[in-house]
Amino acid sequence: MSARKIEASGAPADTITFLGTAGARFMVSKQLAASGGMWLNWNGTQVLIDPGPGCIVQATKRKLNAEKLSAIIISHRHLDHSADANVMVEAMTNGGYRKHGRLFAPSDALGPEPVIFSYLKSYIEGITVLEAETIYQAGNISFRTSVRHVHPVETYGMVFESNGQTIGYITDTRYFEGLAKSYAGSDLVIINMVLTEPRPPVDHLSMPDVEKLIKEIKPQTAILSHFGMHVWQARPWLVAEEISQNTGIRVVAARDGMKYDLAQLKETHV
Ligand SMILES: [Zn+2]
Repeated sequence: MSARKIEASGAPADTITFLGTAGARFMVSKQLAASGGMWLNWNGTQVLIDPGPGCIVQATKRKLNAEKLSAIIISHRHLDHSADANVMVEAMTNGGYRKHGRLFAPSDALGPEPVIFSYLKSYIEGITVLEAETIYQAGNISFRTSVRHVHPVETYGMVFESNGQTIGYITDTRYFEGLAKSYAGSDLVIINMVLTEPRPPVDHLSMPDVEKLIKEIKPQTAILSHFGMHVWQARPWLVAEEISQNTGIRVVAARDGMKYDLAQLKETHV
């Protein structure tokens, strides 16, 4: 069994902090839940994933220090995944005075209407364009992108890997055959579940889709986040409980500010 790493503050080091759980327009515009993305602190490396509106507020409130980030990773250009990219680049580099860190994003997030301002590009080490099913490195964490998701803009999920453990992040998409394959074998899977029921023109995952995915991927634990209004009204923790009963797999609804301790995975794995 590996020893559990503890930071000087006494908090466990290997964690994912949820800087928001709101998904899609209405939840985000009304800030019924926060929308700041996720902060992964793993094996000595910190990365920020999908910094939506309010990320800077949520991160500082949770005493997360952006200067310690090695990378900012954007799954797609939609506002609820990228709105705070600029301010987080500025925070990561101490206003440009300490040049470091990389931005990862799909090519259409960097095209004629880029998610990052030109003047901030010189603050970081560089920008890496994400492509489907490709492996990237950020400090001690490597990650592989998924197949391209079915969503109105170019979108990739990721499987993060460190020390033989894997964390899948299924960002926005509609369900399609072959989606689960990109995340197969993930020890932990985080799933953006916007809908309770499928709404065919809407390219988002619903409860039945998530049940299928969990049965196919068979993670140790699944964490649901990025809730739309209907999931919110149904109460995410009750929805998670129902999916857990239907799949036989532990399913947790993320909460704003939740710090998930990754040592839980290691203990069951070793
Ligand atoms: Zn989206």
